Amino acid sequence: MWFLVCSKLKKGLTSDEYDLKMIPSYIQFLPTGEETGTYLALDLGGTNLRVCQVYLKGKGVIKMKQKKFKISDEIKKASGTHLFDFVADCIKIFLDEYNLSNDNLKMGFTFSFPVEQKSIGSDTVGTLILQAYRDAQTRIGVILGTGTNAAYVENLKNIPKWKGQVPEGGKMIINTEWGAFDNGKKILPITEYDNLVDSSSVAPNSQVFEKMVSGMYLGEIVRFILLDLAKKYNLFGGSSFHLLEKKWSFETSFLSRIERDHSTDLIDTKTILENFFQIYNTSLTDREYVKEICELVGIRAARLTLAGIASILILINRLDGCTVAIDGSVFEHYPHFTSRMRDALLELVGISAENIVFEQVRDGSGQGAALVAACCDTLKTPFVPKDVHKKEI
Ligand code: ADP
Ligand code: MG
Repeated sequence: MWFLVCSKLKKGLTSDEYDLKMIPSYIQFLPTGEETGTYLALDLGGTNLRVCQVYLKGKGVIKMKQKKFKISDEIKKASGTHLFDFVADCIKIFLDEYNLSNDNLKMGFTFSFPVEQKSIGSDTVGTLILQAYRDAQTRIGVILGTGTNAAYVENLKNIPKWKGQVPEGGKMIINTEWGAFDNGKKILPITEYDNLVDSSSVAPNSQVFEKMVSGMYLGEIVRFILLDLAKKYNLFGGSSFHLLEKKWSFETSFLSRIERDHSTDLIDTKTILENFFQIYNTSLTDREYVKEICELVGIRAARLTLAGIASILILINRLDGCTVAIDGSVFEHYPHFTSRMRDALLELVGISAENIVFEQVRDGSGQGAALVAACCDTLKTPFVPKDVHKKEI
């Protein structure tokens, strides 16, 4: 699959008419790790708004105070004005709580709120920038939370659609918007369950890749599979399973819990089925099936994510050494996610897999936004100064 992804990535760099939008971020630098100062940063995600006060200490060290605000369904549906009123209120609560003055605060902002419910994994650039502050080998940032996206460092001369200046050796961070990969459904191994998730979603035939790998959808895929098996093959042995009919009722965190259930009787799996779905009297075999389905969906998500990452590594010719920064609850909490990705990387690229580091990044969007503000502030920073692996593509 990776060579198909590579060719789609390249196509997106030539024009905006393809699935992969490959959006130039206009950011033509990475932090050196030496930037210092205090910045306010906002990260508006699909689930939470995080307000942070970020202290850049230099030498890759960051300290931060932060507060998380849940974005209610009403606010998600409300107008832009209401949304920004909410953001302003949250900033005030944060500043009051920490006794901070709002004079002269410099601010960075990342916005990954669903715009027309099409993309929920944007602003990945912050993840890449934050990890680059700590590790000069970082070239790719990935979000794997409610949605998914990836950003990476591209040579400007490889971006035909970039109409700005192309200085010798110039680079730019590209936001791939890879969640939209294969919206035409011609490449990915899409199942009838993926089609059910897609057709019942708010925006069918969009974000097709995202719907196979990200936190918003993994539980929903499992729900459709369980429903089908219950109806056609009597999974749950005749117990009522009507609560499973409810859309979005099977949370992705349940997959994590079930995959972590190593008890001989799969007791925690039983608890989830009983407490959340009122499915009683399941047999151990029923529960083993449930666990296996979660495993299959989880393994597929990890391998597909890796296929995307490997494609970018090959595109930028960095199999000789690169750090991939990854943010988001699915990567952080889903058991075995990293080892499944590593297995797939080894299968795809062999021994070179050892040169690739996956680094968990938390709150990359917020702190990354502060770093962009800091870099723009000084703008003395040349692009990637400590690049020991410097290699022209
Ligand atoms: P955001 O995308 O808003 O920045 P997160 O990175 O926290 O937020 O991702 C939220 C997504 O992660 C939700 O879709 C949720 O289903 C999923 N999630 C939360 N907890 C877990 C878990 N323990 N295991 C797997 N997925 C989880
Ligand atoms: Mg996030």
